[in-house]
Amino acid sequence: MSPGEAIGISFEQAQDIMRRVGAESRLEIVRRPLSRALGAVLAEDVVAGLPLPGFDNSAMDGYAVRAREANAAGASGLVLAGEQFAGSSRGLELGAGQCIRITTGAPMPRGADSVLIKENAREADGHVMPLEPVREGQHVRYAGEDVAVGEIVLRAGECLTPARLSLAAALGLPDLPVHRRPTVALFTTGDELRPPGQALAPGEIHDSNRVLLQTLLIAEGYEPVSPPVLPDDPARITAALRDASFAFDLIITCGGVSAGEKDHLPALLREHGQVHFWKVRMKPGMPVLFGRLDDALLLGLPGNPVSVLATFLTLGRDLLAALQGQAAAPSPWRARLAAPISKGHSRMEFMRGDLACDAQGQLQVRPNPAVASHRLRAAADANALICLPEGAGEYAQGDVVDVLPYPGQRG
Ligand code: AMP
Ligand code: MG
Repeated sequence: MSPGEAIGISFEQAQDIMRRVGAESRLEIVRRPLSRALGAVLAEDVVAGLPLPGFDNSAMDGYAVRAREANAAGASGLVLAGEQFAGSSRGLELGAGQCIRITTGAPMPRGADSVLIKENAREADGHVMPLEPVREGQHVRYAGEDVAVGEIVLRAGECLTPARLSLAAALGLPDLPVHRRPTVALFTTGDELRPPGQALAPGEIHDSNRVLLQTLLIAEGYEPVSPPVLPDDPARITAALRDASFAFDLIITCGGVSAGEKDHLPALLREHGQVHFWKVRMKPGMPVLFGRLDDALLLGLPGNPVSVLATFLTLGRDLLAALQGQAAAPSPWRARLAAPISKGHSRMEFMRGDLACDAQGQLQVRPNPAVASHRLRAAADANALICLPEGAGEYAQGDVVDVLPYPGQRG
């Protein structure tokens, strides 16, 4: 066993604690206009107060007809008796042997049962000749066939997507009750960090975790606030974090949670707040810290860039979801390994991989061999985490494994 193998709680325990504490601190319900609710978690079921469609209407541009008459019309055709366009109902009624010009979305005239599409008809001298047989009911969209009044169409705990928001709009709702989105303060820590754009003195590196976390959060609709880098100075860190704890729901830090002389966060949280857990049997990300500081929850991520990615995607996102009452974390996908993996340690592992669909429609994931937690390039080349459960083991090519696609990745 390599050093540190037995240290900490299991990944599942960490996840459970995170979800429980998140649910206990669930944020209040607010109404959000639909255009500002993407990614928010619905707080109450939505019951349809209107049917969809709201009335029988045409699915095509053409002529509203009675199928029976259209099919028996003969050479003289049907008499074109009027026009019904989308946007208002003219209350038209179809007389015997007649048809009415109609556009997509226009209410069906009374008496009409079908729509003959424009392309399948010839119009001349106020008459319409069907060029194809008409099937009764064709191209008619019936009131309530999509949604009936009283149906639950969206459920509390669901995450709002563009399609769900547009469904709410179609039902006439201008806003929805959602859990307030957590406010997040984001701190990077370390004397060695300089912002990109600044020259580096010997021993310094650019702060790459800041933009990683900022954009991971922004991609999920959060608006993180990230003050300047904190030096490895316990007094400065304490002052900054305590200030933030009164203004934000969640503080995310990175760096300074491990066992080094400059890793001040665990002791700081123990002294001024409460530690829910420190150290999880996962790789990368073992020293991850979680607790409460004054009014805020604090998630202390390790400093290594790949650890940041893995701990945020697997634990941080769950915490944010639980704070908003999300019903369940999305289950991981499953894919076949495109290459074998020899897992020589017992911790839960989140390896970087390239997920793609093969010509047979089978998801395949190719593990990236650069597994060390500073190998940011490998993380950037990948598009998913491969989740390998606790326990050492040999994985063969073709074995099915859990995968967690990076959010928002398209190639
Ligand atoms: P730490 O957990 O503070 O000991 O940091 C672990 C490793 O991650 C060290 O090599 C740090 O230099 C590096 N690191 C810490 N914070 C950042 C950051 N914001 N951006 C890039 N690398 C970082
Ligand atoms: Mg550090």
